[in-house]
Amino acid sequence: VGNDVAAPIYFDHAATTPLDRRVFVAMEPWLTEGFGNPSSSHWLGRQAREAVEKARRQTAALLGADPQEIVFTASGTEADNMALIGVIEQHGWRDCHVISSAFEHPAVLETCRYLKRHGVDITLLRVGADGIVDPLALQSALRPNTRLVSIMAANNVVGTVQPIDELGRITRAHGALFHTDAVQAVGKLPFDVRKQAIDMLSVSAHKLHGPKGVGALFVRRGVELTPLVHGGGQERRLRSATENVAGIVGLGLAAEIVRKELGEEAERLTRLRDRIMDGVAKRVPQAYLIGHARQRLPGHLCFGFAGLEGESIKLLLALDEAGVAVSSGSACSAHRAGEPSSVLLAMGFDPIRARGSLRVTLGRFNSEEEVDRFLEILPPAVAGLRPVTSRPFAAAALT
Ligand code: PLP
Repeated sequence: VGNDVAAPIYFDHAATTPLDRRVFVAMEPWLTEGFGNPSSSHWLGRQAREAVEKARRQTAALLGADPQEIVFTASGTEADNMALIGVIEQHGWRDCHVISSAFEHPAVLETCRYLKRHGVDITLLRVGADGIVDPLALQSALRPNTRLVSIMAANNVVGTVQPIDELGRITRAHGALFHTDAVQAVGKLPFDVRKQAIDMLSVSAHKLHGPKGVGALFVRRGVELTPLVHGGGQERRLRSATENVAGIVGLGLAAEIVRKELGEEAERLTRLRDRIMDGVAKRVPQAYLIGHARQRLPGHLCFGFAGLEGESIKLLLALDEAGVAVSSGSACSAHRAGEPSSVLLAMGFDPIRARGSLRVTLGRFNSEEEVDRFLEILPPAVAGLRPVTSRPFAAAALT
């Protein structure tokens, strides 16, 4: 794999992150000599069990949870499915209402559609043009039979951070459970479930410089879930299957690294992000920022280009050719590129403007030098899409 360009730039960390070398080193023995099944009673099994339980403590520590409240899964998607379906199963599928937002990741949205097909009432809250869910909208959507509210902690396309503490408190006061898909937020924002009104929270290792194919669901003590996967009873019967020991070890160490380095890393990424924001405002007159300017993830930007929304694919190709990996909307919707983004439609964008956006997401190994190079590459790439006569867009939209 690779791009011919001498020094490619990877600015697509919301899609996935490179594995931290330290995580790779920690995982390797569990793929080779430490191959035991954690359920085996001999020494190989006991070693593997210890490794899994250490990772559980590390993952719990990052969230302020008790280790017994962490269930390992095969992905963030599975954690989301487990939370939503698991709660509704507990209610026997009868008389259930679930509230979510219209701009959730498909892991939640498609699960809501699945629940709806099986008779569950679903309300998807509209999202403000700033990419923030309004707590008042949640308050007025609650019904006597609302069992669960699921709102993402940070949006994967625009990067906006949701007021989940407030949303959680409103939900709890009503007597329903609150789940948050924190797949984009864990690793970038601090969490402490001892203080936050969160009953369940989804994590995915590959978004925090850990391996792909492993995730976790925090399930607060006392919250009852029906499992999705039945079998040998692993993970306190919530997720049967022989554990992905190396993957779980990877998630554990990735979580520990984040716990120790988050403060500094978030500051650095915020500085790089703001450098891009200022540079784009100065050099690309058509650019406007999508989503709230400050209530956003440290390394996450999403731009629109006035009058060029239909050209976003060409822009991606031009950047790709220059060795810059970014995305239009989310990685999952790349095959639908050119169609209006459901996230932007949910934020009230008209279908034309919702067709084009450029998502730039930074990570641990990005440098200022890469940011500066990106700021050299982007303006001519945008200018090349159309003659320079394009209507200048209010640069103030970026501030
Ligand atoms: N939720 C959000 C907000 C995401 O961004 C993603 C991945 O893009 C997922 C869930 C799915 O996570 P995974 O890739 O581990 O299934």
